[in-house]
Amino acid sequence: MSRLIVVSNRTVAPGQTAAGGVATGLAEVVQRNRGVWVGWSGEVGPQREAQEHDAGDYTLLRYDLSEQEHAEFYNGFANGCLWPTLHGRDDLLDCQEGHLQTYDAVNTRVAGLIAKATDAQDRIWVHDYHFLPLAHALRERGHRGPIGLFLHVPFPEPEVYARLPGAKRLLEQLLAYDVIGFQTRRDRRNFARSAREQLGVRRHDTRLDWGEHSVLLEHIPIGIDADNFHRLATGRKANEHASRLQEALRGRRQIIGVDRLDYSKGLLHRVRAYGALLDARPELRRQIEMLQVAPVSRGGVSAYQELREELEQQVAHVNGVHGDIDWTPLRYMNRTLSRSALAGLYRGSAVGFITPLRDGMNLVAKEYVAAQDPEDPGVLVLSRYAGAAEQMDAALIVDPFRAEDCAEGLSRALLMSRDERRERHGELYSDLCRYGVHWWARQFEEALLRIAQSRDADASVEAPDADYAMA
Ligand code: ADP
Repeated sequence: MSRLIVVSNRTVAPGQTAAGGVATGLAEVVQRNRGVWVGWSGEVGPQREAQEHDAGDYTLLRYDLSEQEHAEFYNGFANGCLWPTLHGRDDLLDCQEGHLQTYDAVNTRVAGLIAKATDAQDRIWVHDYHFLPLAHALRERGHRGPIGLFLHVPFPEPEVYARLPGAKRLLEQLLAYDVIGFQTRRDRRNFARSAREQLGVRRHDTRLDWGEHSVLLEHIPIGIDADNFHRLATGRKANEHASRLQEALRGRRQIIGVDRLDYSKGLLHRVRAYGALLDARPELRRQIEMLQVAPVSRGGVSAYQELREELEQQVAHVNGVHGDIDWTPLRYMNRTLSRSALAGLYRGSAVGFITPLRDGMNLVAKEYVAAQDPEDPGVLVLSRYAGAAEQMDAALIVDPFRAEDCAEGLSRALLMSRDERRERHGELYSDLCRYGVHWWARQFEEALLRIAQSRDADASVEAPDADYAMA
């Protein structure tokens, strides 16, 4: 029986348990399959060999990145070119000489490490934009088992994708996968359109045929473990945080935003929209507060440093214009919080204000809903450009580029009757439970298994012919 190999840029450190989100889903999959989890150790150093750790139910294979790889593969091509392109921000492309080559070289190196540690028939599940050419590199090393990619980020319109250096070659390499999973139908459509426009590949329902090879395009939105997060939000530690928050709020109602400090999250637009709400509805002053939690991310990429400075100025502007000696309208923190603190803050907030300009899914939106008290839930105000909006239409869906639209959404959320809040929350929560992280993982695993089984069947159909020819 072939094994399951999971490849993701980040892994869980040996001896630690996954701290939630995608990592929990992946840990469960590799454990259940007694598989191998391959990824970056998080260390930058000269060590070229991967280190193998026995994690009990599975094997962890981690490698370091060299300084050059970290600068040119991770900060350079992955986060300076692919991330902005895939999020529709080709205006922020920062692609320098040699970065694409290093990106390719890291993929070739990782393919070599995987080939050494696995069998050519194993099923390989690759995650995200760090590894677009990995299937191609693995095939060159003779890997024959099924290889799938799940793209956690969006796929942009063909005109945007075409501006990426090496766009056409990367698309060809991507077609070496057997299955590619997308968060939304829109991402899948965009990908198929790029394949048609750049390579002349035609789509047959959910399949692309490329010479002898077929690639399945699946739509499998990622979820969270909603029950588990709900339990966390009602636990003792989360309650302590929620009580501290209620004390600080002194009867005011809180609007919360939680995001990595990333330009795709629409933080500048969001703060502007909150200012627009205070302008438009002066009677809400002192009745509400906004808390934006935004831990610093990818500090080595210049677009992120500029965003941080601009956001600090805007937060100061809103507080300067609207604040008073006894009221700070907007609080802003760069801290990373524990899962229970986060759950407590979500639960204690009347509105979850999640308005990315573009986002693969947005798990924060799902966590906010899961944390609510079903009897008296808060309201989710969600950007139409978050992948989550395709599923979560019982949220108040807004256009993050239009400050008045967001302000109107906030105002509706704050005034919504309890009955309507309960109804919307009930709908959202039951979908969260149905399409959770374990459902997501199983869908993908099954797609890989089906490919493996159909290959076995093809091989056994061909076998008598081969014997006959030899006779
Ligand atoms: P992305 O993957 O682009 O960062 P998501 O919303 O899909 O966006 O996932 C973010 C994850 O990071 C969520 O699970 C969220 O709980 C977690 N997270 C975000 N901000 C913080 C924070 N300040 N402290 C702890 N966890 C955070």
